[in-house]
Amino acid sequence: RDLANVYLSLKKLDWKILESIFKNMWDFEYVPSHAIIRETNLSEEELEAKLKKLASMRLVENKYTEYLGTAFTFKGLSVYSLKRLVAAGKVEQLGSLIGEGKESVVYTVISQGKEAVLKFHRVGYPSFKKVKEKRDYGTLHYTVLTVRSARREFQTLKRLYGHVSVPRPIAWEGNAVLMELIDAKELYKVKLENPEDVLEMIIEEVKKMYELGVVHGDLSQFNILVNEEGVYFIDFPQSMEVGEDGSEEILKRDVENVLKYFKKTYGIERDLKQTLEEIKKG
Ligand code: ATP
Ligand code: MN
Ligand code: MN
Ligand code: MN
Repeated sequence: RDLANVYLSLKKLDWKILESIFKNMWDFEYVPSHAIIRETNLSEEELEAKLKKLASMRLVENKYTEYLGTAFTFKGLSVYSLKRLVAAGKVEQLGSLIGEGKESVVYTVISQGKEAVLKFHRVGYPSFKKVKEKRDYGTLHYTVLTVRSARREFQTLKRLYGHVSVPRPIAWEGNAVLMELIDAKELYKVKLENPEDVLEMIIEEVKKMYELGVVHGDLSQFNILVNEEGVYFIDFPQSMEVGEDGSEEILKRDVENVLKYFKKTYGIERDLKQTLEEIKKG
């Protein structure tokens, strides 16, 4: 799609500039042009022209104050993260768009000869218009928040994989998390023949997660996949540690979401308090 075309149109020098923005974005909301000049040996004029071109492609957002500064857009950060995954030999080809939510854009890709899922995070991104209106976004730029969210999801998946039914994490770069493709459908899209069994399997997974010290944080019929073989949990950026402030409330909300869905859809009654006790008793 669009991302693939953008990717292919970028030249070596463009990648160097994006790399320099990535290296410096932790320290600057808008990376000053002199920092990029130092790393690319471009002249002021050459860099400005390049940055204008990248901005017209919506990969960066430039800002003139006392100096010229630049920041990644969601698209720019995503295409650069993809580049890193390709360079690391983790991704060979971009496939199709399979999901686009508030918080992410999800593609299929070919990774080491097999189909996989690539999720680009975009937590905290204001719209393009809002970026322009809002001069000071505070000390933590949304690009940094977004990379953190991706890292959190990757690390949680690594911790859970092998114990809890989640996609196998393959790699993480920037705002992109590469993981196993699960051939299954979202719970809300399927009509279950054995809803009691499936609910039991879900509670069992929540319990295993809890034993490993993790609370999902956004569990619902939208983030549970099901197929003939079982249930899978996805979407982990808001996961919490057991014992962390507020984690008990979040666990309760997770379980309540699931119980409400099974009551509404299948008429199954299961007591929330009792279920929570069962999860925590180990
Ligand atoms: P939301 O905005 O609903 O919270 P999200 O943007 O946080 O979603 P995910 O829920 O992780 O992102 O992924 C979006 C969609 O992409 C999922 O609902 C699912 O359909 C698909 N998807 C994500 N990961 C996988 C995977 N590993 N295997 C198969 N499909 C996946
Ligand atoms: Mn969500
Ligand atoms: Mn989701
Ligand atoms: Mn989500």
